[in-house]
Amino acid sequence: MSNDENDDTSTPEVTFADLGLSDKVLKALADVGYEKPSAIQAATIPPLLAGRDVVGLAQTGTGKTAAFALPILSRLDLAQKKPQALVLAPTRELALQVCEAFEKYAAHIKGVHVLPVYGGQAYGVQLSALRRGVHVVVGTPGRIMDHLEKGTLDLTELRFLVLDEADEMLNMGFADDVETILADTPDDKNVALFSATMPAQIRRISKQYLNNPEEITVKNKTSTAPNITQRYLLVSYPQKIDALTRILEVENFEGMIVFVRTKSETEMLAEKLRARGFSAAAINGDVAQAQRERTVNQLKSGKLDILVATDVAARGLDVERISHVVNYDIPTDTESYVHRIGRTGRAGRSGDAISFVTPRERYLLKQIEKATRSPLNQMQLPTADDVNATRLSRFDDAITAALEQTSRIDRFRDIIEHYVREHDVPETDVAAALAVVAQGDTPLLIDPAADARQQQRDDRPVRNDRPGGDRGGRPERGERRPRGRSDVPMATYRIAVGKRHKVEPRQIVGAIANEGGLSRGDFGHIDIRGDHSLVELPADLPGGAWDKLRGTRISGKLIELTPDAGSPSSNAGPPRKPRHKD
Ligand code: ADP
Ligand code: MG
Repeated sequence: MSNDENDDTSTPEVTFADLGLSDKVLKALADVGYEKPSAIQAATIPPLLAGRDVVGLAQTGTGKTAAFALPILSRLDLAQKKPQALVLAPTRELALQVCEAFEKYAAHIKGVHVLPVYGGQAYGVQLSALRRGVHVVVGTPGRIMDHLEKGTLDLTELRFLVLDEADEMLNMGFADDVETILADTPDDKNVALFSATMPAQIRRISKQYLNNPEEITVKNKTSTAPNITQRYLLVSYPQKIDALTRILEVENFEGMIVFVRTKSETEMLAEKLRARGFSAAAINGDVAQAQRERTVNQLKSGKLDILVATDVAARGLDVERISHVVNYDIPTDTESYVHRIGRTGRAGRSGDAISFVTPRERYLLKQIEKATRSPLNQMQLPTADDVNATRLSRFDDAITAALEQTSRIDRFRDIIEHYVREHDVPETDVAAALAVVAQGDTPLLIDPAADARQQQRDDRPVRNDRPGGDRGGRPERGERRPRGRSDVPMATYRIAVGKRHKVEPRQIVGAIANEGGLSRGDFGHIDIRGDHSLVELPADLPGGAWDKLRGTRISGKLIELTPDAGSPSSNAGPPRKPRHKD
């Protein structure tokens, strides 16, 4: 653990270059944009590079994969075609994840072969890869055992053995397999055991099979810091931008990070905020490292107040000025929630975290509360009166501040006195007139009545707030050109939920927007029929949306999104899946 109480992943003093990793690995790290090693990485990489056995205890999300993958990649002998490194992971998903990580970190090392080996996959693929030569094997203990028993996996040249998520592997009943593999591989191999917890069984295994291991425990946070106030706001998807604007008006913030789910949303939201007069910039994984650093420096120095970011881009960000974190999109996992809100409350200050939760996302809120063992307080959308109160007090503050500029005040005093004498108007009227000049065309206060009407409109389903849109019947073909808000070509899609399923437009918008990564502006007309509905969406759905929407359900029913055959605007259809040649 670093000296920074609020961060479980970063050790500010050390760089990757300090750790002794190979140049090619360092280059890959620069590509992926890691700024510095996490605590577990800083502690385990040097002993692993030096050939020592290691037991690393740290919670999930602390970067354990790189903690073993980087030193292994730095020490691989590419000429050796028999497996040199074996990583045991509890599940197929984790094994694949580890493989991907290895490949990412090996991007600049030519000819490294990493092979995932797990149950359920055909042996043939695994065997032919093994025959061609593999440097790193990542697999579940069961399937690795099968291969060892069949004699299809030759571990005689094994130099590194990693037990990843060891506690989880034991929980899943792999203890015997793990011990057999440990016992039946070369004695002089380097063993690394990573785990989130240290049950007695792991202690025993480590004593028995590891050679005087260096034991590293990263004190981690199972919960969120007590100096951060956590609140949530129930909002519908379309209300989010107005909700954020209000929060920006009434909250007393210094610097803020607003988290969204996708890269494109960072740009869109930053743009919207700038249009509303806030100083905001986007950072995401696509923004070049140098530009990202510039933006972060602007936030540090106060040139910029709001950063709209994705998880990746804001990981490890350490800026004292950040008084608020807003989860514009609530994260889908607790780890990122903890990381995100840990961006505020730095250096012993207090911090505020506000999470937007749409009705469909309440379960995520519950998950977070359960995992962090700290309930979030519900907050209400600041009312027009709240906003007006802050605007008035800011207005007062501006007057007070101006009055302090005595020499400039003196110069104007004569002019005003002259005006009052000449025109015989009360001094307050003159002051009010000057306020009008200062304020320009924007009204100082919100009209609460008009605001209430607006809120009601926002709560209504999408199709009803189109001027002239018909409320119950079918779309009048030919009359309206199917165009989205930003004038992209639209197509009509059919979904398998309708009146019979008591579905409402807002559910359709919510589900499709959330799961397909679309925004409200992407929706055209929604026509709910008997057992299906027709929805206008961009003809060219964003990459991946099609796949994600395949599994989307509304009220438990698969929506089975298809282009509507009878629609004149549906000829675009879904992108055809490219065929893979084998
Ligand atoms: P663990 O195995 O401890 O649960 P992972 O190895 O899966 O954690 O890493 C969690 C996330 O952190 C991954 O998305 C990974 O890319 C990222 N990550 C790892 N190390 C760093 C680092 N030094 N800087 C920034 N991000 C990192
Ligand atoms: Mg892991």
